[in-house]
Amino acid sequence: MGKEDDRGEEYLFKIVLIGDSAVGKSNLLSRFSRDEFDTNSKATIGVEFQTQLVEIEGKEVKAQIWDTAGQERFRAVTSAYYRGAFGALIVYDITRSDTFQSVKPHCDTAVAQMLVGNKCDLEDIRAVSVEEGKALAEEEGLFFMETSALDATNVDKAFEIVIREIFNNVSRKLL
Ligand code: GDP
Repeated sequence: MGKEDDRGEEYLFKIVLIGDSAVGKSNLLSRFSRDEFDTNSKATIGVEFQTQLVEIEGKEVKAQIWDTAGQERFRAVTSAYYRGAFGALIVYDITRSDTFQSVKPHCDTAVAQMLVGNKCDLEDIRAVSVEEGKALAEEEGLFFMETSALDATNVDKAFEIVIREIFNNVSRKLL
């Protein structure tokens, strides 16, 4: 959703987090929005979002980032979750191949999409190579980044690239 007002422009972008249970979606969001990591992750029922302010080219952008909040465990994530999303972070866990296999069907959800291989701090038990991640992202036309919500590697960067890409798309349309 991009909207304009008389004083200039205001931007509100819906971004969704997608991926199997326990890949680290909630922690990526808490790292980005509050710079926190939560080891005792609790599955909240019901979709939740957090709004984060980002400044791009002197403009205030509100990123409304939606987390499935445990609903993927019950396969209850519906089309309402994806509706109106301008961006998506499609997350897998680099230590679990099954979570990498799961991402492909989700690769056409939104305008700006980033494939995210999370838990890159766990190099010793890596099961999905960087090359595999890159190759899938290239095939599907997505940005790609490996992150760690635990040690904060690339977390802000991943969100910001998606937000900036949406901003660029939206401002092109407003011209
Ligand atoms: P979600 O179900 O996808 O939202 O996943 P959570 O954010 O709840 O995380 C699932 C588990 O993985 C929790 O035990 C987290 O502490 C752990 N976790 C999340 N991100 C990372 C990370 O970057 N590195 C490591 N080592 N563990 C992580």
